[in-house]
Amino acid sequence: MTAPASPAKPTKKPDPQYKRPAVDWESRAYWEGAGRGELVLQRCRACGVVQHRPRGVCASCLSGEIEHFVASGLGRVYTFSIVRQNQMPEFRDAVPYVVAYVALDEGPQLLTNIVGCEPSAVSIGMRVRVDFVPVPADPRAATPIDAPLAVPRFVPA
Ligand SMILES: [Zn+2]
Repeated sequence: MTAPASPAKPTKKPDPQYKRPAVDWESRAYWEGAGRGELVLQRCRACGVVQHRPRGVCASCLSGEIEHFVASGLGRVYTFSIVRQNQMPEFRDAVPYVVAYVALDEGPQLLTNIVGCEPSAVSIGMRVRVDFVPVPADPRAATPIDAPLAVPRFVPA
């Protein structure tokens, strides 16, 4: 008896399998924007601060006068790490991958992945632009919306 031939190695490693995000009233505009291919941030009408993560009030002056706007989707890698081990089924086949804080041109930082290049090509200060990967609906999720959602990540600009 002979062992079965091992399967051919894939030529491209798969993306992480992102789960559908837990959407709440504060983050709904952000996630729905991502589903449309837009990076939506918040700006305080009282003091002008741009903030991320989404909140019901301004984290700087506590005003409730918050507006949403579509950001440029451009920024720079502020810092990053290359993940070489992850036994979570959603990420196991995606290693090595890059987790990074991207400093958006509008000011806030976003914790995200850098994709579209080899991890060894990522550097601090590197210009990046947003890219979106759709996430499938999770029939068990308590998410109260049916809109298509996506996860923002970044690619070299
Ligand atoms: Zn404010």
